[in-house]
Amino acid sequence: MAWTVEPRILNLANAAGSGDRTRAEETLPVGTLTNPVSLLFDDAVSTVTRMRPYRFTGQEAACDLCGNLSHDQVGTRDRYGRKLRIVLCAHCGLVYANPMPTEGEVDAFYARHYRKLYHNAYEPRPKAIFRAFKGAKGRYRFLEPILGRGTRILDVGSGGGEVVHHFRERGMDAHGVEPNRGFAEYSIEAYGIPVQVSGWQNARIEPESFDIVTANHVVEHFRTPFPALVRFRDWLKPEGYLHISVPDVYSPQRTPYSRFHFAHLHYFDRESLIMMGLKAGFEVSERLPGHSTTVVFRKAATPAADWFRYPENYDRLARYFRDYTNLRYFLSRKPYSRWFRRMGRLGGEMFQATFVPGNLDRGNLDREKK
Ligand SMILES: [Zn+2]
Repeated sequence: MAWTVEPRILNLANAAGSGDRTRAEETLPVGTLTNPVSLLFDDAVSTVTRMRPYRFTGQEAACDLCGNLSHDQVGTRDRYGRKLRIVLCAHCGLVYANPMPTEGEVDAFYARHYRKLYHNAYEPRPKAIFRAFKGAKGRYRFLEPILGRGTRILDVGSGGGEVVHHFRERGMDAHGVEPNRGFAEYSIEAYGIPVQVSGWQNARIEPESFDIVTANHVVEHFRTPFPALVRFRDWLKPEGYLHISVPDVYSPQRTPYSRFHFAHLHYFDRESLIMMGLKAGFEVSERLPGHSTTVVFRKAATPAADWFRYPENYDRLARYFRDYTNLRYFLSRKPYSRWFRRMGRLGGEMFQATFVPGNLDRGNLDREKK
């Protein structure tokens, strides 16, 4: 979908950044965003795209956190029914795809399926941009206690550039790294921000040059998250901060069949994420420890030899996967009450989109499937 009215995007960015919700909404291209038919069509197209089978061979993989080879199988399909074998490390509780798709297979998957990327032609859609700016504001508020004027911050997986742009507007020296060429080039052109088109492996970053590295819903996509964290540490000044947020695999509230996603090669709970940080040379920030699988780490002088702090983690997760089965979920009341809530929300959204122009509850859009 072509949408290249730059001044409007900048207005949208500024409005979302200013905390002025009403102004942000006024600058939206209302027809594109609120037309219920277009919303449903977009979702239908992306659902069909995601359901196409994806074939890969992969390789047998050891646990990226502890190196252990023994594991329990905890999943055989992703949330769209595609074949995907997920295992739980029997030592530390890290959850990962095994066989692990190779580097080439991951690239092929992204080129075909993810974000519907086609070379330079693709750029983020208005709905995605608006959401991303709301996310950028949220990340700014969360990190505010450790920000100062001119703080050098690197956003790994900077996507459409909203975080980098928003932080720069607020006086930070923000930079981005983004492997998706379409998104990266879009962000450079739309906002004039410093973004490298690269994955973390090939990014050219001066050692000890950043105060903060932030990676929001990025690390779970990596084939090898541990070496990535070690690299992030190299980029940080002494006592710099690493902010990582990933989905929490330990979530009894969520539907068991929707746990796994082909693009997610690793699954963390707070314990495994913290242990990986400790082993990579961080400690959990006392000032901003975060919650669940959002953790702010502080660069330590040396990696912790005693990083294995949660030996009970495997047992807890093994019990969780054993107990929260699809059968048990569907025999409970949860799915039915969820369905009613969802239909109620969709009805409200369609009503507002149709009869109350400019008065869409953005919250409904944000709560859609992630
Ligand atoms: Zn392990």
